[in-house]
Amino acid sequence: MNYIWGRIYRYLRRPHPQKGWKWIKRQYFKPDKTGQSMDKWILTDSVTGNQLKKMAWTPIVRHQQVKYNYSPFDADLKEYFNKRDRNKFDLNNVAYRQKLAKKQKCVCPMCGMSITDFEEGLETHHILPVVKGGTGTYKNLQLVHISCHIEYHRVFPAKGDVPTPSEIAKCHKGIKGKRLAGTL
Ligand SMILES: [Zn+2]
Ligand SMILES: [Zn+2]
Repeated sequence: MNYIWGRIYRYLRRPHPQKGWKWIKRQYFKPDKTGQSMDKWILTDSVTGNQLKKMAWTPIVRHQQVKYNYSPFDADLKEYFNKRDRNKFDLNNVAYRQKLAKKQKCVCPMCGMSITDFEEGLETHHILPVVKGGTGTYKNLQLVHISCHIEYHRVFPAKGDVPTPSEIAKCHKGIKGKRLAGTL
């Protein structure tokens, strides 16, 4: 781990020899935009907002040696930082996803499973769809698995009738069943 961070540090430092580590940290490290972790210091491409997954998030597979000298890391880093035009990273996006994850106690409200354990990406669901006047307030948002979200809108298309709470509960039950059966 230290080896890799040493490489990252040197790589980031090279184009800004006069800047300190604090400045580099602010420039290149941002909070987890998926809200899957509360980590505030993830190596982030300021153009695309792409974030490097931390090694600690990846489960350790026993009997599989990590070859530190065979690493696509250098190539990745180059691709990350060779873009000149850097747009502003969408901090609102990070903030609301983290807040939602915390509010939901890191559980997907549709299937009841963890939103941190899955490889699967997450999407923000509007409880009352935007086309029905739903807003982007926290009260109207849920952070859900992509497959749960697809399944939900297969049952309740955003442009269709607004489902009742009991219809929603029934749909969630169906999603949970599929998740448990491994068919989602
Ligand atoms: Zn889910
Ligand atoms: Zn939705």
